[in-house]
Amino acid sequence: MKKILIIFLCLNFFRANAQQKTIAQKVDSLLSIMTLEEKVGQLNQYSGSDVTGPADKRNVNVLAEIRRGNMGSMLNVKGAKITREIQQEAMKSRLKIPLLFGLDVIHGYRVTFPIPLAEAASWDLDAIQLGAKIAAKESSAAGLHWTFAPMVDISRDPRWGRVMEGAGEDSYLGSQIAKARVKGFQGNGLGSLESVMACVKHFAAYGAAVAGRDYNSVDMSPRQLWEVYLPPFKAAVDAGAATFMSSFNDLNGIPATGNSYLQRDILKEKWGFKGFVVSDWGSMREMVAHGYAKDGKESAQMSISAGSDMDMESKVFEEHLVQLVKEGKVSLAHVNDAVSRILHKKFEMGLFDNPYRFSDETREKKELNSLDNRNSAREVAKKSIILLKNETNILPLSKSIKKIALIGPLAKSNTDMKGFWSVDWGKEDQLVSLYEGVKNILGTNSEISYAKGCNINDTLTTDFEQAINTAKAADVVVMAVGEAFDMSGEAKSRSDIGLPGVQEKLIEAIIATGKPVVVLIMAGRPLVFNYTADHAKSILYTWWLGSEAGNAMADVLFGDYNPSAKTPMTFPRAIGQIPIYYNHYHTGRPFVDGESPNYRSTYLDISNAPQYAFGHGLSYTNFKYSNLKLSTNKIYLNDTIKVTLDVTNTGSRDGEEVVQLYLKDQVAQPIRPVMELKDFTKMMVKAGETKTITFVIERDKLSFYNEKLDWITQPGAFKLMIGSSSNDIRLTQDFDLLD
Ligand code: BGC
Repeated sequence: MKKILIIFLCLNFFRANAQQKTIAQKVDSLLSIMTLEEKVGQLNQYSGSDVTGPADKRNVNVLAEIRRGNMGSMLNVKGAKITREIQQEAMKSRLKIPLLFGLDVIHGYRVTFPIPLAEAASWDLDAIQLGAKIAAKESSAAGLHWTFAPMVDISRDPRWGRVMEGAGEDSYLGSQIAKARVKGFQGNGLGSLESVMACVKHFAAYGAAVAGRDYNSVDMSPRQLWEVYLPPFKAAVDAGAATFMSSFNDLNGIPATGNSYLQRDILKEKWGFKGFVVSDWGSMREMVAHGYAKDGKESAQMSISAGSDMDMESKVFEEHLVQLVKEGKVSLAHVNDAVSRILHKKFEMGLFDNPYRFSDETREKKELNSLDNRNSAREVAKKSIILLKNETNILPLSKSIKKIALIGPLAKSNTDMKGFWSVDWGKEDQLVSLYEGVKNILGTNSEISYAKGCNINDTLTTDFEQAINTAKAADVVVMAVGEAFDMSGEAKSRSDIGLPGVQEKLIEAIIATGKPVVVLIMAGRPLVFNYTADHAKSILYTWWLGSEAGNAMADVLFGDYNPSAKTPMTFPRAIGQIPIYYNHYHTGRPFVDGESPNYRSTYLDISNAPQYAFGHGLSYTNFKYSNLKLSTNKIYLNDTIKVTLDVTNTGSRDGEEVVQLYLKDQVAQPIRPVMELKDFTKMMVKAGETKTITFVIERDKLSFYNEKLDWITQPGAFKLMIGSSSNDIRLTQDFDLLD
């Protein structure tokens, strides 16, 4: 049996290799008949906004460029019909090279999934992969070949609006999620009709923009770059990501799009990435504004030389590349390499066999907004909701409740449920609001009242009175507050990340009625909400959950689903604590809560503790951790340690728990963080049940970069910590690593 399996695997390996070879040969022979102009044409990506209208309103110049073979890809053209029509134009070009259609399918296509940061809060890799898979299924049916996702930028700064697109602050969690998303989008391999090419972005360090201001500079030590910001990108390459996108920022003075160290040395050489790199929108030309290139021509020269393969909307390749090659300023080898990479993907996607294979109106009709897809979105949404606090166990609510009041500016909103970067604008009626979700569960048995109380950004409290009266007349109040869908996202940095407007005042006024109050916070980033955190008894952080938002929130509110999510980012208690993250380094003057802050590394006005630590999230049940065992507590460099422990559900409800494994290298040169997430597992434990969990610690988990960027392992003492969150460590054990 084993033998047969080995033969089968070898055959598949050779078959895959043979196929690669034929694609490589096909690329070479196509390249050999292309003119320089046609080659440069493949490197241009245009926005489709000019050609997506009715046939007689389309920009004839753009269509002519396509027919001349001056375009390799278009973005923002979506739908089976229109992609087919535009592809037909490309088929009129001399070499009939098909276009690639790309779009930001960030969290779903027609069925909107929770925003990526919310999905990350699920710590559920299968759920995250499923979200990407369904996004690929729907978008590929709508003629798309390529999504500009996942964004794998680590960020430790919630002022940065784009945290909503990522997986939070931790590189280990971020790496696992990056892999899950790439696998979800790309399925079992490129070319399958239900998958799209992933585009891993933004390379690199975009999430470290100074002061959390979008597009700002990034200045960081090489060690931090390698230790914190690069790992998710590497993980995505290892998972087979087809493409990369560079970032807008400069890294230590060199714009990413013109950064040869990032794109050539690290990505293409060290990591062996075989796909292609598209610039971000206009980022080649922006090198002029950066003060790095003197004009568009120089920015084209710098971009291609530094390993950027495709120009998204800067048009500097189109304007200057042919000339630059003729003048000998750009090597033809670089152009050939870029074109080959792009053609390779077009072959892999099967577009030369059939350029219209993804533009399938029948499949589009069947797939978009299907019940199955919506059900999956509801599953993932439920798993993304974090129970931050449940002091008097108000939650879950009873379904036989008589009178429930829904209060707050987001209680009836469906528009905001879509979150930033949703694809299908104008389909807001397909998004379920909290109000609708509660109604769907309670039916007509309960009286559901509603008061807005204020708008999201109101500065006046004029509508409070009606909200207070509504609360007074109810048995339980559920409040829905937070950000509008366009307050976190690209170019949505905020210096004040408190609950906008007078929303916290509204919460205060409603709590003052003495009624049981549950607060739901819907937002694209961790917000700061001290009053609520201190005074509300029950808080759910629901982010923006997408199409099935209201149903998923109701599932959690009424106990049909037991919440299991954990924060993927630290929630600061004060804006002045930012950047704040759990895996910081030691200082020579550590501050311990309760001790004198004099000459300690802290603030005069606030402790160092966050509002909610990384990895925090409660359940309607309780889990007891016990019986930690290590296979050895003295190991040699190449050994592994087997870690086992028991987790018991001591409550009366079934529930899922995320068990987190952290390590600390006690003494090291250079110093190591106070703790680092190195593994986790999420599993269901039935009421009363005990499950035994096993982790394996291997050498890699004990290694790190030294100041010369060597990946090293230093013998010495380590501390193992197992917890339900980074500040709720339940079991610890020391062990020694020996030479
Ligand atoms: C964003 C990218 C996005 C691109 C295309 C840019 O502004 O930074 O993340 O993929 O636009 O829409």
